[in-house]
This record gives sequence, structure tokens and C-alpha cells, in this order.
Amino acid sequence: MLSKAKDILQSYYGYTEFRKGQETIIDQVLHGKDTVAIMPTGGGKSICYQIPALIFPGVSIVISPLISLMKDQVDALTNAGIPATFINSSITGSEMDERLQGMEAGKYKLVYIAPERLEAPAFIELLNRVNVSLLAIDEAHCISQWGHDFRPSYLLIKKLIQQIYPKPIILALTATATPNVKEDICDLLNIPLSNVILTGFGRENLAFQVIKGQDRDLFLKEYIQKNEDQAGIVYAATRKEVERLYHQLNNLGIRVGKYHAGMSETERNRNQEEFIYDDITVMVATSAFGMGINKSNVRYVIHYHIPKNMESYYQEAGRAGRDGSESECILLFAPQDVHIQKFFIDQSDMNIERKEYEYSKLRKMISYCHTETCFQQYILQYFGEVNACNCGKCGNCTDDRKQVDVTEDAQMVLSCIKRMNERFGKTFITKVLTGSNDKKINSFGFHQLSTYGIMREKTQKDVNEFIDYLTAEGYLRPTDGAYPVLMITNKGINVLIGGEKVFKKEKIQVKRLAQDNPLF
Ligand code: ADP
Repeated sequence: MLSKAKDILQSYYGYTEFRKGQETIIDQVLHGKDTVAIMPTGGGKSICYQIPALIFPGVSIVISPLISLMKDQVDALTNAGIPATFINSSITGSEMDERLQGMEAGKYKLVYIAPERLEAPAFIELLNRVNVSLLAIDEAHCISQWGHDFRPSYLLIKKLIQQIYPKPIILALTATATPNVKEDICDLLNIPLSNVILTGFGRENLAFQVIKGQDRDLFLKEYIQKNEDQAGIVYAATRKEVERLYHQLNNLGIRVGKYHAGMSETERNRNQEEFIYDDITVMVATSAFGMGINKSNVRYVIHYHIPKNMESYYQEAGRAGRDGSESECILLFAPQDVHIQKFFIDQSDMNIERKEYEYSKLRKMISYCHTETCFQQYILQYFGEVNACNCGKCGNCTDDRKQVDVTEDAQMVLSCIKRMNERFGKTFITKVLTGSNDKKINSFGFHQLSTYGIMREKTQKDVNEFIDYLTAEGYLRPTDGAYPVLMITNKGINVLIGGEKVFKKEKIQVKRLAQDNPLF
């Protein structure tokens, strides 16, 4: 059957080889196994259900939350000679009737639907009258409350599976691979964990980079001007910042567009189209932009602010280089921006447990900005890939600064935390280490510790950053919650007892500061 799949790959799509993972997923589905397929954005998930759909005798239903993408997908399939259609709120009543009748008459191999369609009993009845071979669930993380994009209507899928007879083969697809989400998908769709296929998450053509301590506006201006013919996306955390950056870049004569949820739909769509058709080269946007946009030649994605978690970051950054050409993903880190994300969590109506979960995800994102190991490797480890190698091209892999032995400094921090009984957060620990006069220190008697003021020749900022570094490299572990307490890990204890040395790249001399460069 796999040879048939390969023939289809060549004859309908014009590709000679399957990509990593596609073959395994298709093979498993063709053998009738319900499957969860986890592949990075741009990895080629669509083919994994489209090819089985062409081989199976009946119709395949594709559930997708991305109404804007359905039409593009169906147009592409129709052009390739594959009978397909979509049913969602964007079509008229008579169009809908016509398509439903077509479905009943066996006219289509693939039918895309929005999850809300499952609320209509008549539609479920129809599914029982036709032969549904495969049920593909795109963006399957939407079913999980732990996912970054939970959609209550996705919960209807569980019921649907119990309602159609004979049960179709289920293929759930997502780019989110955190253990909670994976388990939720399996649990809710009743798919054994052993049927999960996690393909390589690495994107060889992406070079990741974190820029710290630089004038971000200046960096942005220079970067965009240097790459003026290249398409790129700049993500900012708030609508206000999108507006500000948009105006700055526009005033410089850069062909720039903007996109955020505060704009009218018409304006958003227009800007999106202009970007897709290369009428503008740069899109400045909030995270509202990008879902369902299949623009392959994006050469860079710059995050002006830290995103809320690694899932969002990898999804947004992953919009670069979908065509496989070399592309850059740059995050401009400023410690104060963390407050914006904390504020979003604080202000949300999530329950306390959920908020704590979001804080801990944000902390892993912050650690990404402080790590000195390969960025790609950090990301892959986050998504559960254990044997990831150094990418050789990210900001850390190509950083040729000398490594300095900082074991003594690390021991000072760790032993101070130990003496404070591992009950405090970063800011307070820093105050004790730098010998602050804060009254709270006296009230705990910490002014009498041998580690009080032991790092007084350093600034609080430097000590804070150093603690962030020790956290990112796994010597310290923050507890959950908005105000995490720092605990020492086994790796940290090993440093304390002299069993492991700590190295850190020597500090960069920051040449440019915002106030020195009033270029805008
Ligand atoms: P995803 O849904 O995983 O983000 P898509 O299914 O949209 O990714 O595929 C991304 C791009 O990769 C598309 O342009 C698609 O045509 C292309 N693609 C998929 N499979 C292959 C393959 N085997 N060989 C070459 N290109 C492929």
C-alpha cells in the first residue's frame, strides 16, 4: 500500500520523497491504526491525511479550526484533480445544501469542516449515511485544556466518534508535543499512547538567536534595512507596540504592514493579502497573525518581546523558512518585558492552577533566553526529543566567546540559597548576596549569614542575570506560581560539593544603549 502512497505523492503532488515521519504516519493509518501525529509547523502534515484519503474507498472528513485555510486547501486539492470541498460558516445556505448532497452522492474524497458543524444532528446523521473512512483532526491540540489554543467545540469530536458507525480511522495532527497535551489528545480520542508518532521537530534551515541588552528599535531598523528585499514578520506583545513599530518602520520608507485584533477584518485581510503576495515585505503583528498563513518565503521572524511560552514561540518562529531555505528566528530579550506576559496571565480569568501552569511555561521561555547551550537543542528537549544534537548555526553554537570558569560565583549563590533554607525568590536572594539594607533581611537574620554581601562588588542586575543563567542551565529549579521560590537541583548540589564546574561565556561589552542612539 505504501508504494501506492508514493505513486500518489509523485503523480498528484510532484514530490519524489516523503519527508521525515510522513511515511510512518501514512503507513500506520493505512494499516487502520488510530494515530496521533506530531510534526512541527511546515513539516507537511496535510499530505499525511490527504494521501490515505485518496487510497481509502469512502470519504475523509477533516476537522479544522482554520476557516481561512480551508478554501486554500480545497482550491489546491481541486487544482491537483482531487475532489474536495469545505463546509463552514463562510458559505451560503444553498451552497451548503449542494455540498451536503454532493457528499451523500459520493462526489468528494475530502470534506473539510469546522468543529462547530458537529453541533448539527442532521450532519451527524448524514455522516452515518455515507461511508466515512478517515476522520482527520487538524490542530488537534485544540482539544486539550493544556494546549495553547483550547476550543470547546473540539470536545464534540469525542462524542462524534461514538456516534458514527462503523467507526472511521482517526488521525489527530498537531505541532504541539508537550506531554500534557499529548496525553490529553490520546485520552479524549481513545488512542493508545503507543500510536503517537512524533517526528523530528528540528528545522535544519532555521538559525535561532537571542539578542540581549541592545537598543531594540535600532536593531530592528538596521536588520530590516539590511534585508530589505526579504519577507519577514516582527511579532510584538501588544497592539500599542505593533502600532508604534509600524509607524517607525513606515516613516523609514520600509514597505511594512500591521496586523492585530483591534483592526477591522477588512483591513486585516487586506494587509495579510499584501504580505502573502509580496506587496509589502515586513508584517508587524501580535500573535493574532499567522494561524493558517502558508507563506513559504518568510526569511526571518523577529520577536520584539518575549512570547508567553515555548509552544507559541516555536509556532510563530517556525513560520520562517517553510520553503526549506536558510532563515533566521531572532528574539530580542529585555527582562522588563516578562512583566507584560505576567500581567496577561494575572489579568486572565484562568483558575489558580492554570495560572501557575502558565507561569511555569513562561519561566521555561525565560530560561530559553538565558541558556548558553544550542537554542535548537533547548527547544527540541522542551518538546521531548531526547537525543537532539547541536544545530551548529544558532546564536549559541556560533558564539566564539571564551568560556570562563564561574564555579566560585555559582557556589556563592547556591550556598546562600541553602543557608536561606531554599524558601525565597530571585530578587530577595540577590539582595542578600549583594548586601542590601532591606529591612526584611534583618528581620530574617540573614544579615548574619556568611554569604550576606558576598557578591557586593557586583550589581543587583548582574547577580539577577547570573541566577537566571544558573536556572536556565538546570542548577536551580523554580517552584510553580507567580512568585517562585528557587530550589537547588541535584546538579546544583554537585557544584556545591565540588563535583562539577560551572562555565559561562565571558560578558559582552554592550556598545549601544538606547539613550545614545535617538535614531527614530
Ligand atoms: P503543516 O501543516 O505541517 O504546517 P503543510 O502540510 O502545509 O505543513 O506542508 C508545508 C509545505 O511542505 C507545503 O508547501 C507542502 O506542499 C510541502 N511538502 C509536504 N510534504 C512534502 C514532501 N514530501 N516533499 C516536499 N514538500 C513537501
